[in-house]
Amino acid sequence: MQASTPCTLCRGREFRQLHDMGERRVLRCAACGLVRADPLPSMDEKQFVETQGYTDAKAFPEVHDFFANCHRDFVDDPVIRGMRRQLVDLEGLLGGPGDLLDVGAGTGIFMYLARERGWTPRGVDICPLSAEKAAREFDLEVSVGPFEDHDFGGQVFDAATMLDVLEHVHDPLQTLRQVHGMLRPGGAVAIAVPNQRCLLTVLVDTYARVGGPWAQGLLERLYVPPHLHYFTPPTLRRALEVAGFRVQVLSQSGVYLGRYRMSHAMRVPLETVLATGAIVGMNARLNVLATKR
Ligand SMILES: [Zn+2]
Repeated sequence: MQASTPCTLCRGREFRQLHDMGERRVLRCAACGLVRADPLPSMDEKQFVETQGYTDAKAFPEVHDFFANCHRDFVDDPVIRGMRRQLVDLEGLLGGPGDLLDVGAGTGIFMYLARERGWTPRGVDICPLSAEKAAREFDLEVSVGPFEDHDFGGQVFDAATMLDVLEHVHDPLQTLRQVHGMLRPGGAVAIAVPNQRCLLTVLVDTYARVGGPWAQGLLERLYVPPHLHYFTPPTLRRALEVAGFRVQVLSQSGVYLGRYRMSHAMRVPLETVLATGAIVGMNARLNVLATKR
């Protein structure tokens, strides 16, 4: 079947439908395997949906809960420690801190952690509310709008980070190419995305295909409107290589559920599935460190 636009990764036009969720479908490219939403939203719709995550606790409770810890009195939890690890890894690759571009800077917490370690961070985010929070909580300036519209005065960076961002953008390959163009030769990028080949997703996909009674609700929690592309280790690696990067490390990590409100009846099976996924190499998150070729 055809989608409204060709595949960003291979320009293929043939797709297989994974799920029909009414207003949008989830498709897999027949040629390269990249999973995407279809149709992709307009930029106005995109900005609305991304902002809703911060303002409307009911629309995306996970996003709302996640950002509840992004303020100056933050609790030093596993998510924060994961961010610090990203910085340590970049410093290891580059020999120390330098000029950092944080794409999808959110509330500025990552930029704050970077500044603490000696980096000079700049950031951009599509959501004006998060930029306001970055200024208020961390005294950081985050440029507002789609990353594609910003060139930062032609500044060249030592490193770029896109943590939970690439799955949100319309054209991940184009975004990666733009990041590539803003890095110095040998500069590095750190990326984190959800893993489409995570055990939880595979189980929900299978359950939905056999028509389980809660399938629709589960799909809506898994394939949320802000996410437009869904990466596996091979598709993420390919996107980076096509954009001109050399992948140095591609690893998996778990998701920390401690920030999220949920019932015991929900938390226990979810933690069990996620822990099993970690054991069998189908963990919840993918992390990449890559350098500019
Ligand atoms: Zn493709």
